[in-house]
Amino acid sequence: MKLKLRQLQDGRHQFDISLSEPASDLLDFSPVRGSLTVLKSGVTLHVTGCLDYTARQHCSLCLKSYEAQGQAEIDLFFRPQTREDLTGGRELELKPDELDMVLYLGQEIDLWPELREALLLSLPVKPVCRQDCRGLCAQCGKPMVEDTCGCARKETDPRWEKLLKLKKEK
Ligand SMILES: [Zn+2]
Ligand SMILES: [Zn+2]
Repeated sequence: MKLKLRQLQDGRHQFDISLSEPASDLLDFSPVRGSLTVLKSGVTLHVTGCLDYTARQHCSLCLKSYEAQGQAEIDLFFRPQTREDLTGGRELELKPDELDMVLYLGQEIDLWPELREALLLSLPVKPVCRQDCRGLCAQCGKPMVEDTCGCARKETDPRWEKLLKLKKEK
């Protein structure tokens, strides 16, 4: 989604987002739906909204790939990049409310990289395919679904394990 600044008048603009095909910029997210409000005031823009998405995830426990529903809040500020920004040193002087600023060059703002970032940030740090995922079997490494491997049944009480080990060492 590209905003052409010259064609965009000052004020509030509403954009509906509806991507059913995986967009090249949003690889693992499809579909993505929602609406964005762009508030333009001169050269600065404030983009807010909410996006609902389906993402390809890998379970952190059983490593299975699955589809997860998610929602990302969008709240981005854009302002043009100035010469001071390029020469550096300015970063330290950024006002606290400027920390989340996205700097742009030229007359066009490509929103996708920023939106993708917001979607990525909204993903869970430790995704799980389902609440009761039991992960992988510690012994054979297979996903612990129902009774696929017999290892679980052979498991010994951890309190006995130490004793058994001692016995073996003797
Ligand atoms: Zn899982
Ligand atoms: Zn097993």
